[in-house]
Amino acid sequence: MSKAPSIATPVAPMSHPLPSYLQANNLGPWGVYLQQVDRVTPYLGNLSRWVETLKRPKRALIVDVPIHLDNGTVAHFEGYRVQHNVSRGPGKGGVRFHQDVTLSEVMALSAWMSIKNAAVNVPYGGAKGGIRVDPKTLSRGELERVTRRYTSEIGIIIGPNKDIPAPDVNTNEQIMAWMMDTYSMNQGSTATGVVTGKPVDLGGSLGRREATGRGVFTVGTEAAKHIGMDISTARVAVQGFGNVGGTAAKLFAEAGARVVAVQDHGGTIFREAGLDVPSLLRHVANTGTVAGFAQAEVIANDLFWEVECDILIPAALEQQVNAGNAGRIKARMIIEGANGPTTPEADDILHERNVLVLPDVIANAGGVTVSYFEWVQDFSSFFWDEAEINARLVRIMREAFAGVWQVAQDNKVSLRTATFIVACKRILHTRELRGLYP
Ligand code: GLU
Repeated sequence: MSKAPSIATPVAPMSHPLPSYLQANNLGPWGVYLQQVDRVTPYLGNLSRWVETLKRPKRALIVDVPIHLDNGTVAHFEGYRVQHNVSRGPGKGGVRFHQDVTLSEVMALSAWMSIKNAAVNVPYGGAKGGIRVDPKTLSRGELERVTRRYTSEIGIIIGPNKDIPAPDVNTNEQIMAWMMDTYSMNQGSTATGVVTGKPVDLGGSLGRREATGRGVFTVGTEAAKHIGMDISTARVAVQGFGNVGGTAAKLFAEAGARVVAVQDHGGTIFREAGLDVPSLLRHVANTGTVAGFAQAEVIANDLFWEVECDILIPAALEQQVNAGNAGRIKARMIIEGANGPTTPEADDILHERNVLVLPDVIANAGGVTVSYFEWVQDFSSFFWDEAEINARLVRIMREAFAGVWQVAQDNKVSLRTATFIVACKRILHTRELRGLYP
């Protein structure tokens, strides 16, 4: 007779295999995330018996979003809200409006939120939402109707104590104001804490708009100290010049760095002597793209990856740094302002070439960190000044980064794996403490 396993013996998960749409074979963002979890599993000790938890989103909602267009017809868009994990607290993560949004992408983004929130130790799980729509094709009225109907549809799973959306790609403070209003109207009283990234006059936080870029700059500066890089003479290339890339470029330029190349959906611009970042920000605010900026040369989009620089900041969409360009990148350090910009193959190539990658799950965590401050301020209806917010943000980012750096040194692993080690242990520890219900 075989001996029954003792309670303390880790047992293999008895679960059914993952359904096909959850599997890693198709290397979309969700497949990339699953590979990242596999890489970290050997470092999780006894907690690895809970790792299956991380491979299955807790809850995924797909909603139809019908609206009246201005021309009198009715259009339908597909919307999603995925709550990946809520072991450490309510779901938290942004909402993106983009024509290429898919369920698999939102699942990956929600999982990266779980990791990110645990990495900086804010008391949240991970969630994300999106609508498959190109907002540039909508009038302001249509955009408002899409936002309100989507919010009503996901209203059954969001709430200040359940899941708190925020801005992401192509969403902003105005959209958060409409989301807050719609949720509040539906439930009969104003609930500012249901979303973060709101306008400051409506329960938003000072410093939230710049927070992700400030976090990128903070971890970049900390990492530069470790590798003996002088930020004041560094050359920086930035992909994406929205809220994240634009703010990061501004802060690096203020620290003396030369921002030599910027790429966005309109094209790629270059200036060896360094772009004038404040004028470029004004140009983008007026025209919506870096294209057409007079004081720069235009270069081919693919040449962006070969630009001579010290720091590369991908701050746009997923899988931009991949096997096709990782071997050509000249930077010594990559700071991931975007979520999921580097594929696992590119990670390996960059590691071999000794390029330091500061992963999204720590590098762009400044946004959600100040979202947390906003949520706390909304609950107490007591608002902090900007200096206090920035000081707290910088302290949290520095401490989190120092912890991750140490774990990377101790285990001789990349900073991505180190961040996953820290975060997965935190998530799975709470998973174990809470146990299974019922
Ligand atoms: N969308 C941002 C991110 O990817 C912010 C999320 C939030 O503030 O909840 O981290």
